Amino acid sequence: MLPSERASLFADPTDAVGETVADGIYRVLIEAILFGDLASAQRLILQELAERFQVSLTPVREALQRLASEGFIETTPRRGYRIRKPSPRHVTELWQVRIGLELTAGDLTMACLKNGGATGLVERLERIQVELDQTETLSHRRHIELNAFFHQSMIEASGNRLLSGVYHGIQMQLLGAWVQRGKENWRLRLQSESIEHRSLIAALQERDGSALANAIKHHLGRSLDGALADLAEHAGEDIATNEKPSNHQGKEHRHEQG
Ligand SMILES: [Zn+2]
Repeated sequence: MLPSERASLFADPTDAVGETVADGIYRVLIEAILFGDLASAQRLILQELAERFQVSLTPVREALQRLASEGFIETTPRRGYRIRKPSPRHVTELWQVRIGLELTAGDLTMACLKNGGATGLVERLERIQVELDQTETLSHRRHIELNAFFHQSMIEASGNRLLSGVYHGIQMQLLGAWVQRGKENWRLRLQSESIEHRSLIAALQERDGSALANAIKHHLGRSLDGALADLAEHAGEDIATNEKPSNHQGKEHRHEQG
């Protein structure tokens, strides 16, 4: 089964049975952190958020804990929360796991295609890519969504539900890492992204497993380099704005980069 392009990126496929108040707040918060008015927030305060959503503290706390476990936010020493700034090490580890999952999915999907399964996958990827190629009008948000749908479609075509579930968790963390990707840098990479996505599609069309594996490694390797370059740029901005990390964080950061 392929994911619907209208489905929310942030809905967990495993809790399809009705949404709780906390689930709803969780989704609204991710949107606000990634694309909205919380994107530059220094701190997230439980009481303020509960007032804003006009709910009790419990579902807000639950939503915040889930966001923390997925790496979007982190707790601060005084039990508040702030949006997490991913470290180069965290981003590299995420991409390493992602490459492993996408290669496994690629093998499984190729086997399905050769057995006459995964019908409609190639056409669907082409449709998504056509929209991604509307570079003049493409918004940052739509770019993130379409790119996620592209990769999710390949994962789900593998037919392995456990793999899809694990990938979804990784994808949430990848979106968290996107918070730090800013400016118009993403736009500069659209052309290479398009070429790489099209070589993935071609390998699927030709039922060429080794070409597919190479295309996945090349695409994700290049995208990791881009993410690390964006992070390095943001690290420079933090110094420029005189944001003072605590001693503890400073140590951790140096450790992570080493
Ligand atoms: Zn991609």
